[in-house]
Amino acid sequence: MAFLPDFLKLGIRSEINRTLKENGVTEPTAIQEKTIPVILKGKDVIAQAQTGTGKTLAFILPILERIDPKRTYIQALIITPTRELALQITTEVKKLIKSLEDVNVLPVYGGQDVEKQMKKLKGAKQIVIGTPGRLLDHLSRGTVKLSNLSMLVLDEADQMLHMGFLPEVEEIIRLASSKRQTMLFSATMPKQIRSLANRYTKNPEDISVKGSKM
Ligand code: ADP
Ligand code: MG
Repeated sequence: MAFLPDFLKLGIRSEINRTLKENGVTEPTAIQEKTIPVILKGKDVIAQAQTGTGKTLAFILPILERIDPKRTYIQALIITPTRELALQITTEVKKLIKSLEDVNVLPVYGGQDVEKQMKKLKGAKQIVIGTPGRLLDHLSRGTVKLSNLSMLVLDEADQMLHMGFLPEVEEIIRLASSKRQTMLFSATMPKQIRSLANRYTKNPEDISVKGSKM
């Protein structure tokens, strides 16, 4: 059998694989290897792995495979606890979509001019990455609509708990299409996060990687 680089084996297309390689990413980490095939199947996941083990690519890569560039509404929403993280994930996504046509991403967070964000949201945006408060603001203005959302990620869920964002996060989830795929990523799994995950996922795959192995 011909040699296949590991991300290809997991179901990631060659254009993205090439960009990963250009950025020094050649081998998937343990959490990436376990979650990517499950997310590609459209299943809900509850994923736990230590900080620094590559959880961001574990959801970004399958999301990019599942985005339909011909549809210009929001298909994927990633909720993050901080603006820094929203910007960091946006940078990663932008690197990877360079090889893909007609996929657009927008970060949405507090502290940035809301009118400016509203203007940007008018264009085609398949992926939105944002913090809970500002996302709710846009949802109430109608500038973010989640009626056709197909993928929802709660990233660094334990941090959102520690920052007191769970009520806002729940409000956002309740406004999202019930047909969505839901993914929760966290370094730790306090009982409030376990309970949130159980309430808002359907028949999820529970994936946990112990230790800090990459
Ligand atoms: P986590 O969310 O689990 O804390 P990140 O997704 O932020 O971790 O990744 C931590 C670092 O590891 C980042 O700098 C990222 O670019 C890098 N990284 C992720 N996956 C890989 C990989 N497969 N190979 C090499 N480096 C990786
Ligand atoms: Mg992370």
